[in-house]
Amino acid sequence: MKKVGLYIHIPFCVKKCDYCDFYSVVGDDMLMDAYTSAVISAINEYRGQFVADTVYFGGGTPSVLGGRRISQILDAAKEFITPHAEITVEVNPGDNLAEFFPLCADSGVNRVSIGLQSANDNELKNLTRRHTSLDVADAVKLARLSGIDNISLDLMLATEGQTEETIARSIDFCAELHANHISAYMLKIEENTPFYDKKGDMNIPDEDRAAEMYLFACNRLENRGYKQYEISNFAKPGCHSRHNLKYWNMDEYVGIGPSAHSFFDGKRFFYERDIHAFIKGNEPTFDTIGGDFEEYAMLRLRLCDGISRAQCESLFADGKVRFEKMLSAAKKYEKAGLCFADDERIAFNKNGFLLSNMIISDLI
Ligand code: SF4
Repeated sequence: MKKVGLYIHIPFCVKKCDYCDFYSVVGDDMLMDAYTSAVISAINEYRGQFVADTVYFGGGTPSVLGGRRISQILDAAKEFITPHAEITVEVNPGDNLAEFFPLCADSGVNRVSIGLQSANDNELKNLTRRHTSLDVADAVKLARLSGIDNISLDLMLATEGQTEETIARSIDFCAELHANHISAYMLKIEENTPFYDKKGDMNIPDEDRAAEMYLFACNRLENRGYKQYEISNFAKPGCHSRHNLKYWNMDEYVGIGPSAHSFFDGKRFFYERDIHAFIKGNEPTFDTIGGDFEEYAMLRLRLCDGISRAQCESLFADGKVRFEKMLSAAKKYEKAGLCFADDERIAFNKNGFLLSNMIISDLI
């Protein structure tokens, strides 16, 4: 049977952070129970079609759903999950995790992703987060006490009030907690968020400053033993996110829950952003046929490994021609110090990542 990554969207948050446009609502027990049953039914519709060697509970805030409901989902999905699967759950450090982690660990969760964002409490306040850096240190301890050792921490870059000094403090904080993996994303002001409405009054770094901060963070992370493997992801040896690598390697994945996307059987499809429609059993909407060369190049070039001639040739009938065409277009960017491009491989460096959208659309 085919092996996929299984993503389960948990669309609940205690309150909305002012920068966030992920789909989530405030839920009560009744809605969360109904949602848990709907997730189990949606997974069961795939019976006999896949097994998952990675499972990722994202959100929203999976810790708001509670350990009992996460366990219910994992127990019901047992036959879909391979032994030694990477099973990750995202948590908000402001939640009651003393009960949550042991229940998750007993059900097979072996990786936790914690939304730290910053170790500087004034930056957390600017981001309207509902926790402090101390809560994160406690969450890491609690996860390890319950036997979950693989810890990923999220950081946000180019936020209001941030400087190189405070970025260094946040990275050092993660290193001192012995995080295995760090994701460091640049703040993006999305439409239909409170940040979008008030951005004129905020002191947010401009593009050039944001780029300096990104390069500073990459270097600091490398100095603290976190090797970059993707535009925004850094890991200790052997601690890459197996689940997220599936997206960038264009492997198949099944997404369950409102706003969740899938790439399965060559097709891309998604559930609409409506929890009530999902609970009613509405089917996902077809998006496109996926898996062409453009998509592959766009995804793979996010990785430090970039794209290789060998893989292009093995995946696409016209892979040789496509690779060579891209290689000749990449030469000018190599001369500008933005990428590596030889006969076998094309890959961006940190400076190239900063311009990756523009360069990729030129290359493909
Ligand atoms: S950032 Fe996380 S906790 Fe905040 S609203 Fe978005 S999903 Fe919820």
